[in-house]
Parts: sequence; structure tokens; C-alpha cells
Amino acid sequence: MNAPLPAQVLKQHLIDPEICIRCNTCEETCPVDAITHDSNNYVVDPDICNGCMACVPPCPTGSIDNWRLMVRSEAYSVQEQFGWEELPKEKALPVVEEATAAGLSGAASDDASDDASEGAAPPSAQAAFTLPGASVPPWSAAHPYVNLYTHKAPMTATVVGNYRVTGADTESDIHHIVLDFGELPFPVLEGQSIGILPPGVDAQGRPHHARQYSLASPRDGERAGYNNLSLTVKRVTEDHGGAAAHGVCSNYLCDLAKNDTVQVIGPFGHTFLMPNHPRANLIMICTGTGSAPMRAMTERYRRRMDTGENGKLMLFFGARTERELPYFGPLMKLPRDFIDINLALSREPGQPKRYVQDLIRDRAGQVRDLLADRNTCIYVCGLKGMEVGVLDALRDVTMQAGQDWSILHDVLRREGRLHFETY
Ligand code: NAP
Repeated sequence: MNAPLPAQVLKQHLIDPEICIRCNTCEETCPVDAITHDSNNYVVDPDICNGCMACVPPCPTGSIDNWRLMVRSEAYSVQEQFGWEELPKEKALPVVEEATAAGLSGAASDDASDDASEGAAPPSAQAAFTLPGASVPPWSAAHPYVNLYTHKAPMTATVVGNYRVTGADTESDIHHIVLDFGELPFPVLEGQSIGILPPGVDAQGRPHHARQYSLASPRDGERAGYNNLSLTVKRVTEDHGGAAAHGVCSNYLCDLAKNDTVQVIGPFGHTFLMPNHPRANLIMICTGTGSAPMRAMTERYRRRMDTGENGKLMLFFGARTERELPYFGPLMKLPRDFIDINLALSREPGQPKRYVQDLIRDRAGQVRDLLADRNTCIYVCGLKGMEVGVLDALRDVTMQAGQDWSILHDVLRREGRLHFETY
């Protein structure tokens, strides 16, 4: 299956227009500028894409991971893709001499669909590309509903709360925003996200693309039994380099007042989900607003604290200072025998700079004990930069015990027990 493709056969990379939330992540990520968009669709230029797969892990919906074996001269053009409402069906590939030699005979249309569903990249790219986390949910996760509301038919939610959850005197202006869906169904699970469509157009006159936010509330609502959910949104006032920048959607959301309405699409996400079976343990590792799904999962556990069903909760939470750590007050009120809280503060005056990975090493014994339990799932959410540091720390604590991290890492991925959502 990984034999080189014959020269006239192209494994064309496509984006599913029915699932894509137009969040622009792929276009920003593509190292060769093969991805572009118009007001209708995000598309991949077959003449530029080299199948490097860099855009695949960051895509929040998986819409990016579509492939078709095509005769190169018949590849779908960018213009054609702009007009699509849905992906075209697989086409039978004509028998070609080189294709036969490569094991891609007349039966290639069937093979192609298998191959495409695995999102297999050209061999060179595939060798270089390994997801840090699992691409499957934990075995006991509940069934997620996805894409119930789309760009063509978004749903209107009403703002019923908007509160700042960081110290008023700090630079980190982080809001807890509660959206109500009224009578319309919006089933969600902890770990899923929604897309917000900010009003207005960008500098090119195109409608703003959707921005994705993780749920901060559990499946039964921000308020149990209500048809609502919450988000954790940081007002963006500068870019990653520290230069002044105005975040279109974050400022829109942080400025919303009670009873304002918002256009919502989603829900999204079918792997970063919590286990549903009794006594499952969670190791939650997050920075800043990456705490949103951890709050959702913790609240799910808190609401059933007295049932005896809960496993252990261990939290590693990174922020600049206590006052910039979202939900600091409510978090610290949780009983210590309910959740093991480890705060990594990087800019607290008078204290050494600490990152979550430092604390994972400090707590190596407890982390190892949990990792050894097949009921443990690990969730990592927040800054992209933490990914490598966290993986290194997990490797170190495993190796200190004389275990092989590469074997455990594979097991965790295969069993849907290690999940990343980093930006
Ligand atoms: P932040 O305040 O910039 O940083 C939080 C903490 O992480 C700080 O202590 C920071 O330390 C530390 N940090 C920086 N680099 C690190 C590294 N390489 N390893 C470990 N820790 C590191 O965080 P933020 O602005 O809230 O950003 C959170 C991220 O979560 C964003 O990228 C956001 O897109 C993402 N996210 C948000 C949501 C949501 O629903 N809102 C969901 C998923 C993910 P320093 O003092 O060194 O800066």
C-alpha cells in the first residue's frame, strides 16, 4: 500500500466542505501555501500540495483529512473545488502500466477508498509524521454529535452570562461566557468545541471565518439541566510576538452583553472525549484558556462526586500568575481528596518560573502510578509549545521507572488514552 505512486497518478488532498468550519487553521499552517479559500470553500491546490501533512493534526474537525487517487491530468482544480457543496465520490482509476506495477490495478477504486480513509500520505511524508496523541476516543466515551449546525444553517444562541475570570488588574482578560440555546437541541460532550461566526467581513471583504472554542461546561449544561454551555475566551490584544493585534472574535465575544445573540456552528470533535466507565482516572494538563475542557470534565466529575463512580483527577495547570489563572477561586475551593491540583506559575513575583512539565516531573511517582492503570486517560490542552515539553516529561517519568516510553506512548495512542488540543 505504501509503494510509490506512478507518476501519472496523484493522491489528491481535498477538504470536505460539509464538515470544514472555515477556521483558517489549515491555511495558516500550510508550509507551502497550497491552501486557499474564497467566500464558499477552503481548498487545496493540487499543483502545490506536497502531502506533508502539516495541516492535518491542527484541523479541529478532520475535514482536512481527505484524499483521492486521481489521474494527475484530471485532478480537481482550485476553481472546481471552490464550487463544491460536498466532496465528489471516488472515481475508478483507469488501469495504467505503472499503476499495475505499483499494485494499483483496475481494482484501485476500492483500494483507493480504503487508503483514503486512512488519510495515508506519500511514504516520505508518512514516515516523518506521527500524531502525538490518539486519533480515537477512549473506548467508553459517549457518542458525540457533530456538525449539527453549519455555515449554511448556523444556530442563534443568546448570551446569558459574560464574566471576567482573571484579576481585573492583570493583562490576561479572560471571560467565562454562557450561551443559551433555548428550545433548539445542541447536544455536546466535554472536550468538544463549537464555532462562533463573528459578524462583519475581513480586509478582503470576505465574511470572517469561524473561530473555534472548547466547551468549559459539562454535557448537562453550564447549569445542570439547562440547554446552555460556557466558553473560556481570552481577549486577544497582541500576537504571539507581542505586537499589537486585535482578535476579531475574542474581542467580539468578550464585549457581548446579556441577551445579545451569537451565530454558532458545530458541535465539533469526536476524539478528545472523556471516558464514561466508572473509576476512570483523568490526568489533565493545560495552560491558560486550554483549561476550558478540563473545567468541563472536572465539573462532570464534581456533579457525581457522591456516586462512588469517580476515579482520580490529577490537574497540572499553567498560568503566568495566580491572578491570571482562569477560575482560580472556584478551583481552589474543590476538595483536595476530589482533585489533585498542581499549579505551574511562570511569572509569579518572588517565585521561580514553573511550567506544567516541571510539575509533572516533581510528581513523577503519582503520575507513573496513574499511567500504569489502564483506566487512566491523559488530556493536554493549551499552547502548542507545551506539547513537546509535556511529552518529554511523560517520557522521563516513565523511563525513571525503567519502562519504555515509546511502547507506552503507542499503547496510549492506540487505546485513545492520550489526547492533545493545542494551538
Ligand atoms: P498564556 O497565558 O500565554 O500562557 C499560559 C502559561 O503557559 C504561562 O504560564 C506561560 O508561561 C506558559 N507557557 C508558555 N510556553 C510554554 C511551554 N512551551 N510549555 C509550557 N508552558 C508554557 O496562555 P493563553 O494565552 O491563555 O493561551 C492558551 C492557549 O490555549 C492558546 O493558544 C489557545 O488558543 C489555546 N486553547 C484555547 C481554548 C479555548 O477554548 N479558549 C481551547 C483550546 C486551546 P510564560 O510566562 O513563559 O508565557
